[in-house]
Amino acid sequence: MSWFRKPERKLKAEEKRELPADVFEKCPRCGEILYRARLEQNLNVCPSCGFHLRLSAGGYVALLLDEGTFEERDGDLRSGDPLKFTDLKPYPQRLEAAERRPGSFGDAVVTGTGRLEGIGVCLAVMDFEFIGGSMGSVVGEKIARIGLVALERRQPLIVVSASGGARMQEGILSLMQMAKTSAVLARLHEARIPYISVLTNPTTGGVTASYAMLGDVNLAEPGALIGFAGPRVIEQTIKQALPEGFQRSEFLLEHGMVDAIVDRRELKRTIARLLRHMLGLPEAVAAGRTVDTAQAVGAGGEGAAPAGKDRAAD
Ligand SMILES: [Zn+2]
Repeated sequence: MSWFRKPERKLKAEEKRELPADVFEKCPRCGEILYRARLEQNLNVCPSCGFHLRLSAGGYVALLLDEGTFEERDGDLRSGDPLKFTDLKPYPQRLEAAERRPGSFGDAVVTGTGRLEGIGVCLAVMDFEFIGGSMGSVVGEKIARIGLVALERRQPLIVVSASGGARMQEGILSLMQMAKTSAVLARLHEARIPYISVLTNPTTGGVTASYAMLGDVNLAEPGALIGFAGPRVIEQTIKQALPEGFQRSEFLLEHGMVDAIVDRRELKRTIARLLRHMLGLPEAVAAGRTVDTAQAVGAGGEGAAPAGKDRAAD
């Protein structure tokens, strides 16, 4: 009965039509399919539900600083391999692979100076794509150094964190960065120079346990995971179920661990307002005008600068 047999036709591979993989992205929270270009315009915040997807380190620099004002520092610092550490691959190979990725800054943080709504600032932004934003000796050193620049110039420091914690490949040297960065921040505090910490998803481990939580103001993005140990480890330790939303920004705000939750689209404006307040600058700074914060911070005693060093002694 071969007349009824359907002729076999093989599908050819080239007939398959495919969209390029990176044109659309699905929102992890509401499931909306988002056009990537539109998403990027919206600073990687879902236009439909407000979920904050990850923004690159370079994205934060562009978001926070006035165009063309960023000057990177210590971009050439690189990690050694003090422990000759090998997990799935040797540590130097892991570093090399992370550095080759487009948009990499050579380690898990980029630091530099620039202006934010005209205010001279020192900035550090962590890069989660670089070995999980882990803090090794280079991250600690770069943050400590930009802190010292802030001290010397008497300019406010802003650190945007995103980290899985200390970098195990550098062992104890990673843990020592907690003390080093905290010591520099203590000097900024003594000199009454503002430090603003911005916590993004996720900020955990040794970074939370040091500079990320030491801000004069700690800001968090909505829905960010912020904590020291992971929920599973805590549950196993205390043998109790954890409450809903534990370790998210909103929970931390409710319990006094962060000062405000700020939508990414409002982040620059919010930081500018805080800095003007802390530096005693007038609220209405005309767009494009630059402000010499070194003078503003250093001019304690005149009454015009509440953040001035000498005022502490008044
Ligand atoms: Zn969404």
